[in-house]
Parts: sequence; C-alpha cells; structure tokens
Amino acid sequence: MIAPGAVIGIFGGGQLGRMTALAAARLGYRTHVFSDAPDAPAVQVTSRATVAAYDDPAALDRFASEVEVVTLEFENLPVRSLERLAASVAVRPGPALLAICQDRLREKAFLDRAGAATADWRPLRSPADLGARDGPPPPWIVKTARLGYDGKGQRRVAGAGGLEAAWRELGRVPAIVEAEVAFEREISVIVARATTGEVRSFVPVENRHRDHVLAETTVPAAIPPALGEAAVRLAEGLAVALDLEGLLAVEMFVAGDGRILVNELAPRPHNSGHWTIDACAVSQFEQLVRAIAGLPLGDTTRFTPARMTNLLGDEVLTWPAILAEPGARLHLYGKSEVRPGRKLGHVTRLLDGGP
Ligand code: AMP
Repeated sequence: MIAPGAVIGIFGGGQLGRMTALAAARLGYRTHVFSDAPDAPAVQVTSRATVAAYDDPAALDRFASEVEVVTLEFENLPVRSLERLAASVAVRPGPALLAICQDRLREKAFLDRAGAATADWRPLRSPADLGARDGPPPPWIVKTARLGYDGKGQRRVAGAGGLEAAWRELGRVPAIVEAEVAFEREISVIVARATTGEVRSFVPVENRHRDHVLAETTVPAAIPPALGEAAVRLAEGLAVALDLEGLLAVEMFVAGDGRILVNELAPRPHNSGHWTIDACAVSQFEQLVRAIAGLPLGDTTRFTPARMTNLLGDEVLTWPAILAEPGARLHLYGKSEVRPGRKLGHVTRLLDGGP
C-alpha cells in the first residue's frame, strides 16, 4: 500500500490531471505532474512538476525516481515512455493496457476477443483496403486509429464513393471504418479496479454529444435497471480482462433494440464522470488515487441526480451567472486561451428529486 504522504506521479498536464491532483491532495498525498507544457492545468495545482517532452529520457528517469507510483490522464502518450517509467516504478494503468486503448484497431480487436459487441467495422490501413468488399455497408464513421479525440480525426461518409476523399482528409494514416450506429442513447460506465483486485463502478450516465464532443452528462441515465446492470457488468468484465489497475471509462451506444455496443475505452478519469465530484461520496478522481495506491476503494453512492455541462470555448464566459445560480457547482480549469470547442471548465447542477 502506498500510504498518504507519498508522492503520486501524474503523467499529463490537462484538466483530468488537475482534478486528480486535487483529489490526491485531499487524501494527504503530494503530486508530481509531468507535462509537456508549462502552466498546464495540472501544473498549476501540484507541489512538483516536470515540464519536458513526453519522450525525454533524462526527464522520465528523474521523474520515475521521485515518485512512488505513476498514473496517466490521457491516452496519447508514447507507450515507450511508459515502458521506460515502468522499468523502475509502478505505472498504473500500465503500458500494455495503454497500447490497446490508444489504438482504435487494437481496441476493437480486444473488444471482439472479449466478446463485447461493437459497431461493425473493418480496418483501413492501405489503399488496397479502400475497395474491400467485406465489412459493414455505409453510412460510415471513419476514424484515425490513433491520436483522435473529441471528434478530431473523424469523418462521416455517406457512400462508398466518399471513402477515398475522407481518408485523404484524415492524412491516409491507418484508420477504422465503422458502421454508423442509429443509437437510441449514449451511456458510459466508469469502473475502478484496485491493485488488490477490488472492483467498483459508478452508475451508468447518459451522454449527449455535439459535433462529436461531449456536451452534457445526465445521471441517472434514463434506462431500465436491467440494462444499467448489464452495462456495469460489461464494464467490470472489460476491466478484469484488461487486468486494469486504475480507472476505465467505457463509452457505449444503446441501440434501438436495447443492445449495448461498446464505442470506446478510456483508461483514465473521464469527462462523463466529473459529476461524481459534487454528487457522490467519493469522486472518480479520488477513486483513481485509491485504486493505484492500493487503498480500499471508496463508496460510489450517488446523493442526488445531477447534470454536468461542459463549458466549451466562449461558453466559459458565462461563469459569473453560474456562480449566482443555486445548486450549481462551477469548475474552471485555469486555461488562459479561449479557443472554439476547447474544454475550459464544466458546471455540475445538482437536481431535485433525491437519488
Ligand atoms: P468517439 O471519439 O469514438 O468517442 O466518438 C465521438 C462521438 O461521435 C460518439 O460519442 C458518438 O456521438 C459519435 N460516434 C462515434 N462513432 C460512431 C458510430 N460508429 N456511429 C454513430 N455515432 C458515432
């Protein structure tokens, strides 16, 4: 067990790292953030920081020697860097898991092996794959296998004739061609698995996206209890199959016929779990700290219904009005540059009606 007082390393400097560092501090831990940008959201709130490229060997070695465990806050980190860290310090979740989750082709292959249903798909790695006859019929969502997030690296393609142009726009890099799912709703489950093997989940939440970016999360999801239980069982099964140490967010589509299709896995705190800071006994961020430190996992009881709304781009300028609103809990990430669509903060509104 890594007891309070120890230094937790956070690889990545964004808002997820910031909220992890704040949760760690509440439990008496110190944090050391490794970020490639000075003044990043997590760097602003940590007791120690390393600002260096994510593949800087000397900086990685120094960082590893100064922390007792490393966790991560986004997927697009070099697996080699995590392997280098893992040679001398515990990295949770580890490089093998990251290698799966940062590559959509590997992720889908893992989900197939694990028996989890997904949208039908086929790989698009080379020009020869453009005319492939197998795989799902259009319309498609074409996604780059790597480095996509928040709708970046994605194109909708209505018919076979549009595939080549879409792939060109995406840079002709390895990609995945997915059937467009006519889903009824999108839900997600955040599951924690501790070093002790203990597993706990937060209740399923419902997500609304705008332009492929999460706009709003509502909890509880308006789904029958049996479906919610199936979603939690599915997420927990995937966490075990991945030998997770840490958090896993499982994004899912609920199809019209009630089937659950897994869309994406994120082995870290997730935007759809921010509401847990304000509406749960223990937040997703504290749960991550507990999981990687080998502490008992926390109580995921939800106290109230809630709605979390992202503040994207200049929506953040509404903060004075949000401050004045009863029941609204405002979170700003300390990012100085307002760019369209950029996640600059969120607000969680605690709703009436009891749990
Ligand atoms: P992703 O980056 O894969 O999480 O995709 C972002 C969002 O785009 C999802 O949450 C959905 O709203 C939409 N999307 C992604 N893939 C599909 C799909 N195969 N069918 C329908 N909508 C999709």
